[in-house]
Amino acid sequence: MNRNIVLLGSTGSIGTQTLDVVRNNSDELKVIGLAANTRTAEVEKQVREFRPKYVCMYDEHAAKELQAKIEDTGIKVMTGMEGLLEIVSVPEADTVLTAVVGMIGIQPTIRAIESGKDIALANKETLVCAGHIIMPLAAQKNVQILPVDSEHSAIFQSLNGEPKDKLEKIILTASGGPFRGKKRSELENMTAADALKHPNWNMGPKVTIDSSSLVNKGLEVMEARWLFDVALDNIQVVIHPQSILHSAVQFCDGAVIGQMGVPDMKLPIQYALFYPDRRPMNEKRLDLFELGSMTFEKPDMETFRGLKLAFDSAKTGGSMPTVFNAANEMAVRAFLKGEIKYLQIYDMIQRAMEHHVKIDNPSVEDILQAEKETYDYLAK
Ligand code: MN
Repeated sequence: MNRNIVLLGSTGSIGTQTLDVVRNNSDELKVIGLAANTRTAEVEKQVREFRPKYVCMYDEHAAKELQAKIEDTGIKVMTGMEGLLEIVSVPEADTVLTAVVGMIGIQPTIRAIESGKDIALANKETLVCAGHIIMPLAAQKNVQILPVDSEHSAIFQSLNGEPKDKLEKIILTASGGPFRGKKRSELENMTAADALKHPNWNMGPKVTIDSSSLVNKGLEVMEARWLFDVALDNIQVVIHPQSILHSAVQFCDGAVIGQMGVPDMKLPIQYALFYPDRRPMNEKRLDLFELGSMTFEKPDMETFRGLKLAFDSAKTGGSMPTVFNAANEMAVRAFLKGEIKYLQIYDMIQRAMEHHVKIDNPSVEDILQAEKETYDYLAK
C-alpha cells in the first residue's frame, strides 16, 4: 500500500519523527509535500533527501531564501496561508499529517478534508477550536481523522473493532510532567528551564510547558471528546508518571482495554500513516521486568489549574475553548521569554475566559476573531 504524504510542520518534533518513519518505510511511504515556517536550512536538507514535489515556507522571507537555495531542483516554493491551502489539496496527496503548532492548522486541515485527504492529526487546536466543524465535515467527505498524539492513538487502538455504543469511559493518562507533586508555593518561581525538563517525552517547547501545567492534558480532553464522541463526564484524567499505559477505554461490561509501550512518538505516527495495517517497527520493546511497577494518581486540579480551566471551557463550549487556547498560547510565549511568572499562565487564561462572551457554533471566522480578541485583550 503506497501512500503519498503531505507533511505540515516538517522541522518540529513530530515533523522530524514523521520523516524518520518515512525513511524507515521508504518502500511504501513517499513525502509529496513539505511545509514549515522559517527554518530554511533544515528544509533544504529535507528537500534534498526526500525529493518532494511541493514545498511551502509559511514565512514569505523564508520562502524567498529557500527558493534561492533549491533553485537547481526546479521546485517552486509556495508561501503563506495560500501556500498551505494549496499544498494540502494537491491531487497526488493521500494523507495530510498536520504537525504545525497553533490555530494556523485549522484552515489547512479543513481544506485537506474538503479535498478528500485522510488526516493524520497532530495539531491539537484543530479539534479544540473547530471540532464541531471538522468532525461532521470529515464524515460528510468520508475521510479518516487518524490521531497521532500518543494518548488518542492509544484510545483509537484500544477501540479498534468495537461498536461505539459499547464505550463507557475513556481513561486519559498524563505523565504529570516535571512538576508533578509540587505545591503552589513551589511553582511560584519555576523558570522556563525547569519546565522544559520533561521526564519521559522528548517534545517541542510549547507542548512541554503545556505538559508541565496540565494545559496539554486539558486540550487532549477536548480533542478526545470530538474524536471519540464521548461526553466530558466520561473522560477521566489519570496521572501515570511512567508513561507506559498511553491511555485506555472502559466498555459497558467493565472491561478496560489499554495500549502500552515505551514512550516513542514514532509508533503512533506510523500507526496513523499505515492504518488499518500494523507494520513492524525496529525500536526498543517494553520490558515488564525492567519496568517493575506502574502507578496511578488523581490529578491535582487545584494546584494545576490548567486542567480545571480546560474542563470549564469545554463545558461552556462554543468559542470558549478557542479563548482558553489562545490565552495559553500567548501566556506560554511570554513565559518562555521570561516576561511572566509560571502561575501567571493560569491567571492569563482565567482572565481571558472571564472577559469573553461565548459564541455558539462559531464559524472559522468567529474562531479566528475570538483568537484575535483574546490576544488584544491580554496585551492591554
Ligand atoms: Mn499527548
